[in-house]
Amino acid sequence: MDDFIIIGSGIAGHHAASELCRKAPSHNVQVVGAELGRPYDRPPLSKEYLLAAEPVHPELRPSEIYGSTVALRDGLSTTSIDRQNRTVTLADGSQVHYDKLLLATGSRLRQLHLPHVDPRRIFYLRTLEDAQRLRRALCESPRVAILGGGFIGLEVAAAARVRGCTVRVLERAPLLLSRAATPKLSEFARALHIKRGVEVLVDLEAGEIFEESGEIILRWPGGELRSDILVVGIGVVPNSELASQCGLATADGILVDQQCRTSDGAIFAAGEVTNYPIGRHGLRARTESWSSASAQGAVAAKNMMGQDRCFNELPWFWSDQYDINIQCIGLPTKASRFLQVGDLNSNSWLQVGIDDAGHVIGAEGVNRGRDISALRRAGRSGQSIPAALVEQLIRIEPVNR
Ligand SMILES: Cc1cc2nc3c(=O)[nH]c(=O)nc-3n(C[C@H](O)[C@H](O)[C@H](O)COP(=O)(O)OP(=O)(O)OC[C@H]3O[C@@H](n4cnc5c(N)ncnc54)[C@H](O)[C@@H]3O)c2cc1C
Repeated sequence: MDDFIIIGSGIAGHHAASELCRKAPSHNVQVVGAELGRPYDRPPLSKEYLLAAEPVHPELRPSEIYGSTVALRDGLSTTSIDRQNRTVTLADGSQVHYDKLLLATGSRLRQLHLPHVDPRRIFYLRTLEDAQRLRRALCESPRVAILGGGFIGLEVAAAARVRGCTVRVLERAPLLLSRAATPKLSEFARALHIKRGVEVLVDLEAGEIFEESGEIILRWPGGELRSDILVVGIGVVPNSELASQCGLATADGILVDQQCRTSDGAIFAAGEVTNYPIGRHGLRARTESWSSASAQGAVAAKNMMGQDRCFNELPWFWSDQYDINIQCIGLPTKASRFLQVGDLNSNSWLQVGIDDAGHVIGAEGVNRGRDISALRRAGRSGQSIPAALVEQLIRIEPVNR
Protein backbone atom coordinates (compact mmCIF):
# COMPACT_ATOMS: atom_id res chain seq x y z
CA MET A 1 0.00 0.00 0.00
CA ASP A 2 1.45 3.34 -1.04
CA ASP A 3 0.90 6.61 0.79
CA PHE A 4 -0.42 9.19 -1.67
CA ILE A 5 -0.64 12.65 -0.11
CA ILE A 6 -2.32 15.59 -1.85
CA ILE A 7 -1.78 19.08 -0.48
CA GLY A 8 -4.63 21.41 -1.44
CA SER A 9 -8.32 20.53 -1.66
CA GLY A 10 -9.18 22.76 -4.63
CA ILE A 11 -9.92 21.82 -8.22
CA ALA A 12 -6.62 20.06 -9.02
CA GLY A 13 -6.47 18.30 -5.63
CA HIS A 14 -10.03 17.05 -5.94
CA HIS A 15 -9.56 15.69 -9.47
CA ALA A 16 -6.38 13.93 -8.40
CA ALA A 17 -8.12 12.44 -5.35
CA SER A 18 -11.06 11.15 -7.37
CA GLU A 19 -8.71 9.62 -9.97
CA LEU A 20 -6.66 7.88 -7.24
CA CYS A 21 -9.86 6.74 -5.59
CA ARG A 22 -11.09 5.16 -8.84
CA LYS A 23 -7.82 3.58 -9.91
CA ALA A 24 -6.01 2.84 -6.62
CA PRO A 25 -8.73 2.32 -4.00
CA SER A 26 -6.56 0.02 -1.89
CA HIS A 27 -3.89 2.68 -1.38
CA ASN A 28 -3.78 5.26 1.37
CA VAL A 29 -4.98 8.54 -0.14
CA GLN A 30 -5.04 11.65 2.03
CA VAL A 31 -5.96 15.21 1.06
CA VAL A 32 -4.70 17.97 3.34
CA GLY A 33 -6.54 21.25 2.70
CA ALA A 34 -6.24 24.63 4.36
CA GLU A 35 -9.91 25.42 3.70
CA LEU A 36 -12.72 23.97 5.78
CA GLY A 37 -15.09 21.41 4.34
CA ARG A 38 -15.19 19.32 1.20
CA PRO A 39 -13.81 20.63 -2.10
CA TYR A 40 -16.07 23.00 -4.00
CA ASP A 41 -16.03 24.67 -7.37
CA ARG A 42 -14.80 28.24 -7.90
CA PRO A 43 -16.10 29.46 -11.30
CA PRO A 44 -19.74 29.77 -10.12
CA LEU A 45 -18.63 32.06 -7.28
CA SER A 46 -18.26 35.10 -9.54
CA LYS A 47 -21.27 34.21 -11.70
CA GLU A 48 -24.49 32.42 -10.73
CA TYR A 49 -23.65 32.34 -7.03
CA LEU A 50 -23.76 36.15 -6.91
CA LEU A 51 -26.99 36.31 -8.90
CA ALA A 52 -29.18 33.45 -7.70
CA ALA A 53 -32.02 34.19 -5.29
CA GLU A 54 -31.13 30.93 -3.51
CA PRO A 55 -27.50 30.13 -4.33
CA VAL A 56 -26.63 26.45 -4.65
CA HIS A 57 -23.60 25.11 -2.79
CA PRO A 58 -21.08 24.48 -5.61
CA GLU A 59 -19.93 21.08 -4.38
CA LEU A 60 -17.40 19.20 -6.51
CA ARG A 61 -18.45 15.66 -7.33
CA PRO A 62 -17.91 12.89 -6.46
CA SER A 63 -17.92 14.14 -2.88
CA GLU A 64 -18.73 10.82 -1.21
CA ILE A 65 -15.10 9.71 -1.70
CA TYR A 66 -14.18 11.87 1.31
CA GLY A 67 -14.59 9.97 4.50
CA SER A 68 -14.70 6.63 2.67
CA THR A 69 -11.77 5.96 0.30
CA VAL A 70 -10.04 9.31 0.72
CA ALA A 71 -9.16 10.83 4.09
CA LEU A 72 -9.78 14.59 4.01
CA ARG A 73 -7.90 16.62 6.61
CA ASP A 74 -9.60 19.95 6.08
CA GLY A 75 -8.88 23.25 7.79
CA LEU A 76 -5.23 22.23 8.09
CA SER A 77 -2.24 23.74 6.30
CA THR A 78 0.92 21.91 5.40
CA THR A 79 3.87 23.87 6.73
CA SER A 80 6.91 22.05 5.37
CA ILE A 81 8.18 19.16 3.29
CA ASP A 82 11.13 16.93 4.23
CA ARG A 83 12.18 15.38 0.94
CA GLN A 84 14.88 13.19 2.45
CA ASN A 85 12.54 11.42 4.86
CA ARG A 86 9.49 11.82 2.62
CA THR A 87 7.31 13.45 5.23
CA VAL A 88 5.20 16.57 5.37
CA THR A 89 4.57 18.55 8.55
CA LEU A 90 1.10 19.95 9.17
CA ALA A 91 0.07 23.06 11.08
CA ASP A 92 -1.01 20.94 14.08
CA GLY A 93 2.57 19.61 14.33
CA SER A 94 1.75 16.13 13.02
CA GLN A 95 3.90 14.49 10.37
CA VAL A 96 2.64 12.38 7.51
CA HIS A 97 4.68 10.00 5.39
CA TYR A 98 4.36 9.97 1.60
CA ASP A 99 5.52 7.71 -1.17
CA LYS A 100 4.18 10.13 -3.75
CA LEU A 101 3.20 13.72 -2.99
CA LEU A 102 1.05 16.10 -5.05
CA LEU A 103 1.28 19.85 -4.55
CA ALA A 104 -2.05 21.39 -5.59
CA THR A 105 -1.86 24.54 -3.51
CA GLY A 106 -3.25 26.97 -6.12
CA SER A 107 -2.86 30.70 -5.67
CA ARG A 108 -3.73 33.38 -3.18
CA LEU A 109 -5.13 36.81 -3.87
CA ARG A 110 -2.94 39.83 -4.24
CA GLN A 111 -4.09 42.12 -1.43
CA LEU A 112 -3.98 45.87 -0.98
CA HIS A 113 -2.99 47.61 2.22
CA LEU A 114 -5.95 49.93 2.86
CA PRO A 115 -5.57 51.22 6.43
CA HIS A 116 -8.04 54.08 5.94
CA VAL A 117 -11.06 51.98 4.93
CA ASP A 118 -13.24 49.87 7.21
CA PRO A 119 -12.35 46.26 6.24
CA ARG A 120 -16.09 45.42 6.29
CA ARG A 121 -16.44 47.50 3.11
CA ILE A 122 -13.59 45.76 1.26
CA PHE A 123 -14.20 42.58 -0.73
CA TYR A 124 -12.00 40.01 -2.45
CA LEU A 125 -13.16 36.91 -4.28
CA ARG A 126 -11.41 33.56 -4.13
CA THR A 127 -13.28 31.35 -1.66
CA LEU A 128 -16.86 30.36 -0.99
CA GLU A 129 -16.76 32.48 2.15
CA ASP A 130 -15.66 35.49 0.06
CA ALA A 131 -18.58 34.89 -2.32
CA GLN A 132 -21.09 34.63 0.54
CA ARG A 133 -19.87 37.94 1.95
CA LEU A 134 -19.87 39.69 -1.41
CA ARG A 135 -23.30 38.38 -2.32
CA ARG A 136 -24.77 39.79 0.89
CA ALA A 137 -23.08 43.14 0.26
CA LEU A 138 -24.32 43.38 -3.33
CA CYS A 139 -27.88 42.99 -2.02
CA GLU A 140 -27.41 45.93 0.35
CA SER A 141 -24.97 48.33 -1.36
CA PRO A 142 -26.17 50.51 -4.24
CA ARG A 143 -22.74 51.79 -5.31
CA VAL A 144 -19.92 49.36 -6.11
CA ALA A 145 -16.36 50.30 -7.02
CA ILE A 146 -14.20 47.59 -8.54
CA LEU A 147 -10.45 47.89 -8.54
CA GLY A 148 -9.03 45.78 -11.37
CA GLY A 149 -10.50 45.11 -14.80
CA GLY A 150 -9.51 41.45 -15.12
CA PHE A 151 -11.94 38.58 -15.61
CA ILE A 152 -12.96 38.39 -11.94
CA GLY A 153 -13.49 42.15 -11.70
CA LEU A 154 -15.59 42.18 -14.86
CA GLU A 155 -17.69 39.18 -13.83
CA VAL A 156 -18.41 40.90 -10.51
CA ALA A 157 -19.23 44.12 -12.42
CA ALA A 158 -21.74 42.20 -14.56
CA ALA A 159 -23.37 40.54 -11.55
CA ALA A 160 -23.58 43.85 -9.68
CA ARG A 161 -25.17 45.60 -12.69
CA VAL A 162 -27.70 42.81 -13.12
CA ARG A 163 -28.51 43.28 -9.44
CA GLY A 164 -29.14 46.98 -10.17
CA CYS A 165 -26.07 48.49 -8.53
CA THR A 166 -24.20 51.51 -9.85
CA VAL A 167 -20.85 50.06 -10.91
CA ARG A 168 -17.50 51.67 -11.65
CA VAL A 169 -14.42 49.73 -12.70
CA LEU A 170 -11.02 51.32 -12.22
CA GLU A 171 -8.11 49.73 -14.11
CA ARG A 172 -4.51 50.85 -13.88
CA ALA A 173 -3.52 49.52 -17.33
CA PRO A 174 -4.66 51.26 -20.51
CA LEU A 175 -6.77 48.19 -21.42
CA LEU A 176 -9.17 45.89 -19.58
CA LEU A 177 -8.14 42.21 -19.36
CA SER A 178 -4.62 43.38 -20.16
CA ARG A 179 -2.83 40.30 -18.79
CA ALA A 180 -4.82 37.56 -20.49
CA ALA A 181 -6.56 38.95 -23.56
CA THR A 182 -5.69 40.53 -26.87
CA PRO A 183 -6.58 44.21 -27.44
CA LYS A 184 -9.55 43.07 -29.57
CA LEU A 185 -11.15 41.17 -26.73
CA SER A 186 -10.24 43.91 -24.31
CA GLU A 187 -12.01 46.51 -26.48
CA PHE A 188 -15.02 44.21 -26.82
CA ALA A 189 -15.26 43.86 -23.03
CA ARG A 190 -15.02 47.61 -22.53
CA ALA A 191 -17.79 48.33 -25.04
CA LEU A 192 -19.94 45.57 -23.54
CA HIS A 193 -19.74 46.94 -20.01
CA ILE A 194 -20.24 50.54 -21.06
CA LYS A 195 -23.35 49.46 -22.99
CA ARG A 196 -24.68 47.82 -19.83
CA GLY A 197 -24.18 50.98 -17.80
CA VAL A 198 -20.83 50.33 -16.10
CA GLU A 199 -18.49 53.30 -15.86
CA VAL A 200 -15.13 52.00 -17.06
CA LEU A 201 -12.06 54.05 -16.09
CA VAL A 202 -8.78 52.80 -17.56
CA ASP A 203 -5.20 54.02 -17.36
CA LEU A 204 -5.93 55.44 -13.91
CA GLU A 205 -4.48 54.62 -10.56
CA ALA A 206 -6.16 55.68 -7.34
CA GLY A 207 -3.35 57.24 -5.35
CA GLU A 208 -5.59 57.69 -2.31
CA ILE A 209 -8.28 55.33 -1.04
CA PHE A 210 -10.02 56.35 2.18
CA GLU A 211 -13.35 56.51 3.92
CA GLU A 212 -15.22 59.70 4.77
CA SER A 213 -18.72 60.08 6.17
CA GLY A 214 -19.63 56.48 5.39
CA GLU A 215 -18.36 56.59 1.79
CA ILE A 216 -15.27 55.06 0.23
CA ILE A 217 -13.42 57.62 -1.85
CA LEU A 218 -10.94 56.63 -4.56
CA ARG A 219 -8.99 59.67 -5.67
CA TRP A 220 -6.54 60.16 -8.52
CA PRO A 221 -4.98 63.32 -9.98
CA GLY A 222 -7.92 65.28 -11.35
CA GLY A 223 -10.75 63.00 -10.27
CA GLU A 224 -12.41 60.79 -7.71
CA LEU A 225 -15.24 58.33 -7.30
CA ARG A 226 -17.39 57.49 -4.30
CA SER A 227 -18.89 54.14 -3.44
CA ASP A 228 -20.42 52.04 -0.68
CA ILE A 229 -18.16 49.03 -1.12
CA LEU A 230 -14.87 48.28 -2.84
CA VAL A 231 -14.18 44.99 -4.62
CA VAL A 232 -10.48 44.34 -5.23
CA GLY A 233 -9.57 42.00 -8.11
CA ILE A 234 -5.93 42.63 -8.86
CA GLY A 235 -4.63 39.15 -9.54
CA VAL A 236 -3.11 36.23 -7.69
CA VAL A 237 0.23 34.93 -6.46
CA PRO A 238 1.07 31.20 -6.72
CA ASN A 239 1.35 29.33 -3.40
CA SER A 240 4.74 27.89 -4.34
CA GLU A 241 6.64 28.61 -1.10
CA LEU A 242 6.33 25.03 0.23
CA ALA A 243 8.06 23.89 -2.95
CA SER A 244 10.79 26.51 -3.03
CA GLN A 245 11.55 26.06 0.69
CA CYS A 246 12.28 22.35 0.18
CA GLY A 247 14.46 23.08 -2.85
CA LEU A 248 12.15 22.23 -5.74
CA ALA A 249 12.66 24.26 -8.92
CA THR A 250 10.29 27.24 -9.12
CA ALA A 251 9.99 30.25 -11.42
CA ASP A 252 6.63 32.05 -11.29
CA GLY A 253 5.11 28.82 -9.96
CA ILE A 254 6.42 25.29 -9.49
CA LEU A 255 8.22 24.12 -12.63
CA VAL A 256 6.72 20.88 -13.93
CA ASP A 257 7.03 18.84 -17.10
CA GLN A 258 4.14 17.50 -19.17
CA GLN A 259 3.82 14.58 -16.72
CA CYS A 260 3.29 17.11 -13.88
CA ARG A 261 6.60 16.01 -12.33
CA THR A 262 8.60 18.51 -10.32
CA SER A 263 12.40 18.40 -10.04
CA ASP A 264 11.90 15.58 -7.44
CA GLY A 265 10.60 12.31 -8.92
CA ALA A 266 8.43 11.60 -5.84
CA ILE A 267 6.71 14.99 -5.95
CA PHE A 268 4.15 16.11 -8.51
CA ALA A 269 2.36 19.43 -8.87
CA ALA A 270 -0.86 20.41 -10.61
CA GLY A 271 -3.10 23.41 -11.13
CA GLU A 272 -2.62 27.12 -10.76
CA VAL A 273 0.55 26.74 -8.72
CA THR A 274 2.41 25.22 -11.68
CA ASN A 275 4.39 26.75 -14.47
CA TYR A 276 4.03 24.18 -17.24
CA PRO A 277 4.79 23.52 -20.91
CA ILE A 278 1.95 24.71 -23.11
CA GLY A 279 1.22 22.94 -26.36
CA ARG A 280 4.01 21.62 -28.48
CA HIS A 281 5.81 24.74 -29.54
CA GLY A 282 8.11 25.45 -26.63
CA LEU A 283 5.87 27.85 -24.68
CA ARG A 284 5.58 27.69 -20.90
CA ALA A 285 3.30 29.60 -18.53
CA ARG A 286 1.35 29.64 -15.29
CA THR A 287 -2.37 29.82 -16.08
CA GLU A 288 -5.56 30.42 -14.15
CA SER A 289 -7.77 27.88 -15.88
CA TRP A 290 -10.24 25.41 -14.38
CA SER A 291 -9.76 22.89 -17.19
CA SER A 292 -5.97 22.87 -16.86
CA ALA A 293 -6.20 22.44 -13.08
CA SER A 294 -8.65 19.54 -13.29
CA ALA A 295 -6.88 17.78 -16.17
CA GLN A 296 -3.44 18.22 -14.62
CA GLY A 297 -4.77 16.83 -11.33
CA ALA A 298 -5.96 13.69 -13.11
CA VAL A 299 -2.71 13.32 -15.10
CA ALA A 300 -0.59 13.78 -11.97
CA ALA A 301 -2.64 11.10 -10.16
CA LYS A 302 -2.13 8.60 -12.98
CA ASN A 303 1.61 9.24 -12.97
CA MET A 304 1.74 8.93 -9.17
CA MET A 305 0.37 5.41 -9.76
CA GLY A 306 3.28 4.67 -12.10
CA GLN A 307 1.71 5.44 -15.46
CA ASP A 308 3.29 7.73 -18.03
CA ARG A 309 0.63 10.25 -19.05
CA CYS A 310 1.13 13.69 -20.51
CA PHE A 311 -0.87 16.85 -20.06
CA ASN A 312 -0.50 18.57 -23.40
CA GLU A 313 -3.83 20.30 -23.88
CA LEU A 314 -3.96 23.97 -24.54
CA PRO A 315 -5.31 25.80 -21.49
CA TRP A 316 -8.97 26.69 -21.90
CA PHE A 317 -10.79 29.42 -20.02
CA TRP A 318 -14.36 30.70 -20.15
CA SER A 319 -16.08 33.71 -18.66
CA ASP A 320 -19.77 34.59 -18.48
CA GLN A 321 -20.71 38.27 -18.33
CA TYR A 322 -24.39 39.23 -18.79
CA ASP A 323 -25.60 37.06 -21.71
CA ILE A 324 -22.13 36.89 -23.25
CA ASN A 325 -19.91 33.82 -23.13
CA ILE A 326 -16.21 34.45 -23.71
CA GLN A 327 -13.80 31.58 -24.27
CA CYS A 328 -10.04 31.55 -24.73
CA ILE A 329 -7.66 28.69 -25.47
CA GLY A 330 -3.90 28.60 -25.54
CA LEU A 331 -1.93 31.81 -25.40
CA PRO A 332 -3.55 34.14 -27.97
CA THR A 333 -1.61 37.13 -26.65
CA LYS A 334 1.58 35.51 -27.99
CA ALA A 335 0.25 35.28 -31.57
CA SER A 336 1.83 37.26 -34.37
CA ARG A 337 -1.29 37.25 -36.58
CA PHE A 338 -4.92 36.24 -36.41
CA LEU A 339 -7.49 34.51 -38.54
CA GLN A 340 -10.89 35.94 -37.88
CA VAL A 341 -14.48 34.79 -38.19
CA GLY A 342 -17.46 37.06 -37.64
CA ASP A 343 -17.74 40.79 -37.17
CA LEU A 344 -15.63 41.89 -34.22
CA ASN A 345 -18.23 44.54 -33.43
CA SER A 346 -20.97 41.92 -33.10
CA ASN A 347 -21.69 39.54 -30.23
CA SER A 348 -20.42 36.50 -32.13
CA TRP A 349 -16.84 36.30 -33.35
CA LEU A 350 -13.72 34.22 -33.17
CA GLN A 351 -10.07 34.99 -33.73
CA VAL A 352 -7.40 32.31 -34.02
CA GLY A 353 -3.84 33.29 -33.16
CA ILE A 354 -0.96 31.98 -35.28
CA ASP A 355 2.74 32.21 -34.46
CA ASP A 356 5.56 33.03 -36.91
CA ALA A 357 5.96 29.37 -37.83
CA GLY A 358 2.26 29.06 -38.77
CA HIS A 359 1.24 27.11 -35.64
CA VAL A 360 -2.05 27.80 -33.93
CA ILE A 361 -1.14 28.93 -30.44
CA GLY A 362 -4.45 30.23 -29.16
CA ALA A 363 -7.89 31.57 -29.87
CA GLU A 364 -10.51 33.85 -28.41
CA GLY A 365 -14.21 33.64 -29.08
CA VAL A 366 -17.34 35.53 -28.11
CA ASN A 367 -20.44 33.33 -28.10
CA ARG A 368 -18.44 30.86 -30.21
CA GLY A 369 -18.30 27.84 -27.92
CA ARG A 370 -18.74 25.39 -30.79
CA ASP A 371 -15.75 26.75 -32.72
CA ILE A 372 -13.56 26.82 -29.64
CA SER A 373 -14.54 23.19 -28.90
CA ALA A 374 -13.53 22.24 -32.44
CA LEU A 375 -10.16 23.89 -31.97
CA ARG A 376 -9.72 22.18 -28.60
CA ARG A 377 -10.51 18.78 -30.15
CA ALA A 378 -8.03 19.38 -32.96
CA GLY A 379 -5.34 20.36 -30.47
CA ARG A 380 -6.09 17.30 -28.33
CA SER A 381 -5.61 14.92 -31.24
CA GLY A 382 -1.94 15.77 -31.02
CA GLN A 383 -1.53 17.60 -34.30
CA SER A 384 0.29 20.81 -34.80
CA ILE A 385 -2.34 22.46 -36.94
CA PRO A 386 -1.04 24.29 -40.00
CA ALA A 387 -2.63 27.65 -40.62
CA ALA A 388 -4.14 26.50 -43.92
CA LEU A 389 -6.08 23.75 -42.18
CA VAL A 390 -7.41 26.13 -39.58
CA GLU A 391 -8.47 28.52 -42.28
CA GLN A 392 -10.42 25.69 -43.90
CA LEU A 393 -11.84 24.58 -40.58
CA ILE A 394 -13.21 27.95 -39.73
CA ARG A 395 -14.35 28.79 -43.23
CA ILE A 396 -16.89 25.95 -43.23
CA GLU A 397 -18.47 27.29 -40.02
CA PRO A 398 -21.40 29.59 -40.72
CA VAL A 399 -20.81 33.14 -39.61
CA ASN A 400 -23.65 34.24 -37.35
CA ARG A 401 -23.95 37.98 -37.23
C1 LIG B 1 -14.16 33.45 -8.39
C2 LIG B 1 -13.43 32.64 -9.42
C3 LIG B 1 -14.01 32.41 -10.66
C4 LIG B 1 -13.35 31.68 -11.63
N1 LIG B 1 -13.93 31.49 -12.84
C5 LIG B 1 -13.31 30.73 -13.77
C6 LIG B 1 -13.92 30.48 -15.04
O1 LIG B 1 -15.00 30.97 -15.33
N2 LIG B 1 -13.27 29.71 -15.93
C7 LIG B 1 -12.05 29.14 -15.65
O2 LIG B 1 -11.49 28.43 -16.49
N3 LIG B 1 -11.43 29.36 -14.46
C8 LIG B 1 -12.03 30.14 -13.53
N4 LIG B 1 -11.43 30.37 -12.33
C9 LIG B 1 -10.09 29.81 -12.09
C10 LIG B 1 -10.15 28.38 -11.57
O3 LIG B 1 -11.17 28.21 -10.63
C11 LIG B 1 -8.81 28.08 -10.95
O4 LIG B 1 -7.85 28.12 -11.99
C12 LIG B 1 -8.77 26.76 -10.22
O5 LIG B 1 -9.56 26.86 -9.07
C13 LIG B 1 -7.35 26.37 -9.86
O6 LIG B 1 -7.41 25.18 -9.14
P1 LIG B 1 -6.24 24.77 -8.13
O7 LIG B 1 -6.64 23.45 -7.56
O8 LIG B 1 -4.94 24.90 -8.78
O9 LIG B 1 -6.27 25.88 -6.99
P2 LIG B 1 -7.41 26.19 -5.92
O10 LIG B 1 -8.73 25.81 -6.45
O11 LIG B 1 -7.18 27.57 -5.48
O12 LIG B 1 -7.08 25.20 -4.71
C14 LIG B 1 -5.90 25.30 -3.95
C15 LIG B 1 -6.22 24.88 -2.54
O13 LIG B 1 -5.00 24.65 -1.84
C16 LIG B 1 -5.12 25.16 -0.52
N5 LIG B 1 -3.78 25.37 0.04
C17 LIG B 1 -2.88 26.32 -0.32
N6 LIG B 1 -1.75 26.20 0.41
C18 LIG B 1 -1.94 25.14 1.24
C19 LIG B 1 -1.13 24.50 2.24
N7 LIG B 1 0.11 24.92 2.53
N8 LIG B 1 -1.66 23.45 2.91
C20 LIG B 1 -2.91 23.00 2.62
N9 LIG B 1 -3.71 23.56 1.70
C21 LIG B 1 -3.22 24.59 1.01
C22 LIG B 1 -5.92 26.43 -0.72
O14 LIG B 1 -6.51 26.86 0.48
C23 LIG B 1 -6.96 25.95 -1.75
O15 LIG B 1 -8.09 25.41 -1.12
C24 LIG B 1 -12.07 31.13 -11.34
C25 LIG B 1 -11.48 31.35 -10.08
C26 LIG B 1 -12.15 32.10 -9.14
C27 LIG B 1 -11.51 32.35 -7.80
